[in-house]
Amino acid sequence: MTVVSRFAPSPTGLIHVGNLRTALFNYLVCRQLDGTFILRFDDTDRLRSSEKFVEQIKEDLDWAGIYWDRIEKQSERIEYYKDAAKRLKDKGLLYECFESPQELDLKRKKQLAMGKPPVYDRAALKLSEYQKKEFRDQRASHWRFKLDSQRVEWTDQIMGLVGVETGSVSDPVLIRGDGQFLYTLASVVDDISFKVNYVIRGADHVTNTATQIQLIDSLDGEVPKFAHHSLLVGPKGEPLSKRMSDFSLSEIRDYGIESAAIFSFMSCLGASASPNPSFEKRDIIANFKINNFGSNHTKFDFDLLKAHSKKYLANMPLSEISKYLRDLGVPTDVAPDFWEMAKENVSTRSDLISLWDLCVRGATAKISKDDKEFIKKCKELLPPKPRDRKSWQIWTDQIKSETNRSGKSLFLPLRLALTGKEDGPDMGKLFPLLQKIRM
Ligand code: GLU
Repeated sequence: MTVVSRFAPSPTGLIHVGNLRTALFNYLVCRQLDGTFILRFDDTDRLRSSEKFVEQIKEDLDWAGIYWDRIEKQSERIEYYKDAAKRLKDKGLLYECFESPQELDLKRKKQLAMGKPPVYDRAALKLSEYQKKEFRDQRASHWRFKLDSQRVEWTDQIMGLVGVETGSVSDPVLIRGDGQFLYTLASVVDDISFKVNYVIRGADHVTNTATQIQLIDSLDGEVPKFAHHSLLVGPKGEPLSKRMSDFSLSEIRDYGIESAAIFSFMSCLGASASPNPSFEKRDIIANFKINNFGSNHTKFDFDLLKAHSKKYLANMPLSEISKYLRDLGVPTDVAPDFWEMAKENVSTRSDLISLWDLCVRGATAKISKDDKEFIKKCKELLPPKPRDRKSWQIWTDQIKSETNRSGKSLFLPLRLALTGKEDGPDMGKLFPLLQKIRM
């Protein structure tokens, strides 16, 4: 059986690393098994959904290298939800309720005060036809799915055997007072229609899964395989959303993280194996195993992602970066030497800007009082242009023999005079590229 999986964001905001993880897992499972990967926009909430976010999510996924085979929008499938609602009503499984949000809130508070779980009491089921008619004249009604009170179990591909007592869950609202179909119904109807047979999503959906399994059964659908991955937390275990930034993909891209690096990083974050993830998409797809992931919270540390991206850059062949270098103004004949010097010294592509600027315009020299004479001597010994890779060696050998300096006392002041910084690229590689020396 071929796999059909889906990523189903609500276009009510930007997608963040947590969403990317869900998208990626579904994508990897699909590609590994030559399946179909659906991008489904859960946009039945017309007020909060926007076309701007639909476009941004598509752009973000595309940037991350996650490509879909099919695209769907729930807002275009309302007829199917109406039909499913009718079938549920006919079976007596969808019932009309009239409580206002305030009344429901009061009920919940009372239950909690009495030490009871805040589960909907099904008062609406006890209303007579006459009472319902009276209510209808006064207020809008919403509709709840009547759960069958039992233990719903499934073998989760990550969590193992999971069981949820639906008796301790409120009957979910499937249709709101304003007629809007809610996620629980729309998602099930779509999963059945599109023959989705593998659902990978966050552990925050475990309870939904139990109710959705009952709903799928009620609509005579096939229950898919489920995998609920852990949620991401910050490096200290704090919720990601509590941080200053919730790491939207757009923000991560703007920071300069390489897309291949985030793809590789997220594909194995939280996995028990694979300390050295590959950057090769083909290998990542081939080696992906959902049961390598555990159900404990997974720490997301942006600094580690940055380091991974830096490592990716350091190994990047010139051909992959040459367009960027050209746009920066690096001449084609200089590009190989420039990249050779720069690649291990940049965290993001934009760091190349200042390195190229250093090559073209030089840096303001930093020279301490004690080094003034020394640097003056170095300047006198400066080899004339053109300089090549051996020039640095020749120059510093000469400085060594003419001054009494060697080691750090020679190299540090020289670096400071040439670059204005205490550390940076290998001077042997940088020196021949310096077009201007301002010491
Ligand atoms: N729109 C839902 C969400 O973003 C989809 C959940 C699911 O995968 O079923 O949480």
